[in-house]
Amino acid sequence: MTAVLPDRPTAAERRTAPSLAAAVRDLDSRRARSRQRMIGASELGECRRRAAYRIARRRPTNTRAGLQAFIGSELHRGVLRALRRQYGGLTEVGLKGEQVRGRCDWWHAPVVEDLKTTSRFGFERVLTRGVPVRHWFQVAVYAWLLRTGRTADRRLSVGTAQGVDGLRIRYLSRDSGEDVVFEADHDPALTAEALLWLTDVYATVEDEGVDAVPRDGFGPGVDTMCDWCPFLDLCWGPPVDPETEGAVSRQSRLTVTDSDYVAAVHDYDTWRAAENEAKRHKEFARERLRGRSGPADDLHCEWSGGGLRRQVDKDAAVERLVELGEVLPTRTTRSPQTIRVTRNGSRRD
Ligand code: SF4
Repeated sequence: MTAVLPDRPTAAERRTAPSLAAAVRDLDSRRARSRQRMIGASELGECRRRAAYRIARRRPTNTRAGLQAFIGSELHRGVLRALRRQYGGLTEVGLKGEQVRGRCDWWHAPVVEDLKTTSRFGFERVLTRGVPVRHWFQVAVYAWLLRTGRTADRRLSVGTAQGVDGLRIRYLSRDSGEDVVFEADHDPALTAEALLWLTDVYATVEDEGVDAVPRDGFGPGVDTMCDWCPFLDLCWGPPVDPETEGAVSRQSRLTVTDSDYVAAVHDYDTWRAAENEAKRHKEFARERLRGRSGPADDLHCEWSGGGLRRQVDKDAAVERLVELGEVLPTRTTRSPQTIRVTRNGSRRD
């Protein structure tokens, strides 16, 4: 499946975006002062705390790369090879600016393409929520580095501007082999936005230190970007003792004082209300769509399921095993912990 869907900042957002030159100048001066390291374009816009650790040259604490990641990178390499053989262009082009470096997946003039291999869930998420801004940041910065001749690749001469007019991001599902492509014009305002994001991180690291840079992830078990983060233990502390699991979590280390506790309970209450309200709205829209399907501007709606299916009747199966005098197979699991936050009203007898 190949769909071309626009998903870019609005014209109004672009008009208000600051200039690229200013962003580069600002970043340049900050780097010169702090002599800190360059970060990869793929990390722009992801998590400010993670970028801060890179900038401050902190040593990664969680470097395990799972088999999934290995399979993903092998597949990635193979797909790029196939694209290059079939259509030409250059793949895995080394790029290096004064502040950001990167390796652009495929430059097929005049378009720069970034390929992302994803799980079935990741693919579905892109289809439902669109391209995350950080992915646009990445490919916009590649385009800018190429256009300004900031290359680090023996196939291209450094300083020679390369032609780039368009940005493209291709998501490929590792499970089904489906792909979906999103396209946009080259947009200097988007590059400026990405570099300003980085400038902000540099400024906080410089003025207040790494720990003052906000975390953009909500921690292990809540955000997958934290589960796979190379700085997980540095950011959230060592894993909790399995003995106390359930009673504590790494995030619970943030709840130290009484006011931390009160703030967390109120946060829970606020988001629970927002969740309930969002659910009502979603259900109302869903009911209005019953029996309807097809395209709707940049979206598409379809229904599936609803057929009859045969399932094991567990109660009847247990009853039958008992009748036959069989020992019921069991396993021990931990019951889920539930939380209940209620209002303190004054009660009358
Ligand atoms: S663990 Fe999560 S919040 Fe911390 S640096 Fe990594 S991605 Fe950011």
